[in-house]
Amino acid sequence: QKGPNGKYTVTLIPGDGIGPEISQSVKDIYSAANVPIQWEEVSVTPILKGGKTVIPDAAIQSVKKNTVALKGKSPHLFSAVSNRLTSSIRIRPARNTNVVGKGHVSLNLTLRRTFNLFANVRPCASIKGFKTAYDDVNTVLIRENTEGEYSGIEHEVVDGVVQSIKLITWDASERVARYAFHYAQASGRKRVTAVHKANIMKMSDGMFLSACREVSKEFPDVVYDEDLLDRVCLKVVTNPQPYSDRVMVMPNLYGDILSDMCAGLIGGLGLTPSGNIGRDASIFEAVHGSAPDIAGKGLANPTALLLSSLMMLRHMNLNEYADKIEKAALTTIAEGKSITGDLGGKASTREYTDAIIQKLL
Ligand code: ATP
Ligand code: MG
Repeated sequence: QKGPNGKYTVTLIPGDGIGPEISQSVKDIYSAANVPIQWEEVSVTPILKGGKTVIPDAAIQSVKKNTVALKGKSPHLFSAVSNRLTSSIRIRPARNTNVVGKGHVSLNLTLRRTFNLFANVRPCASIKGFKTAYDDVNTVLIRENTEGEYSGIEHEVVDGVVQSIKLITWDASERVARYAFHYAQASGRKRVTAVHKANIMKMSDGMFLSACREVSKEFPDVVYDEDLLDRVCLKVVTNPQPYSDRVMVMPNLYGDILSDMCAGLIGGLGLTPSGNIGRDASIFEAVHGSAPDIAGKGLANPTALLLSSLMMLRHMNLNEYADKIEKAALTTIAEGKSITGDLGGKASTREYTDAIIQKLL
């Protein structure tokens, strides 16, 4: 939905900590590259409403309207969602358990539910010039984002016995599988691998696999196979090369773990982008947190947020701009003259940003 000025409006949620600094860097780079986007900046700092803390409605409305958002890390939010889920199936919420974050749900979870963000996409590609154990990582992980082990349904059966329910539905499995095949096709990747533990969780992961198999029939030009999570972990860290050129799709928890493991292969948090693709909106974000230890010092590496924004541009079919900015950023990192401290350099966020901008002009 292009506006009258020929620009697309995108919601920008700078978030906490280094969020505002790295958001500024993205904004500056976008102006220099003349990307046809105007930002609608909103705050998601929780406010008190009727005795409950909620995300300001303006933020939700903005994402609803624009359907695309870029976000930094945001504060946690108290909510009764998980308790509501628990009581709706008439089971007792766990007592006496030392659950981290018990009784509240993060902003991310709220956004995920509000906008039906069903797939979390994490490309993981080696960056030239930033030396890690491997220089040939190039894989894409797609994680089911709404259910599985994250359904938030936990209860105590009797004292000392708790149950946590892993919920798998055909619809959600099919939806994420279809997205994975579409993504493979659109990005020219030849293979989709479903990652699972169906040898142990025969019914739940078994159904996830059945859904993937069904969907694979619609994509005869994409090779489909399946592999066990533990084996994939071992094989990827031993030699990531065979995982290039493919998309891996998996249930929620496996995706959480495997994507961080793969992020480690390419140099960690400062470089890893992600996208949350939804039915009603898509939200792109860096995978790192708010980095409170360096916040406000002008030292943060904006690359992960920048690369996330490039996923966003490609999602919006603005590939030309994405390619141009990506080249400028990767060249800047490869040259190594103006890189931030986390990458072993001495540059500030500003200097690194300016070096990228120089390459765009
Ligand atoms: P949060 O609770 O928001 O996740 P955290 O304390 O876990 O915060 P992270 O943001 O997860 O911190 O970061 C972990 C470490 O990695 C910190 O030392 C942080 O400085 C560093 N780090 C994370 N992101 C970046 C970045 N973009 N640039 C430089 N360093 C980063
Ligand atoms: Mg963290």
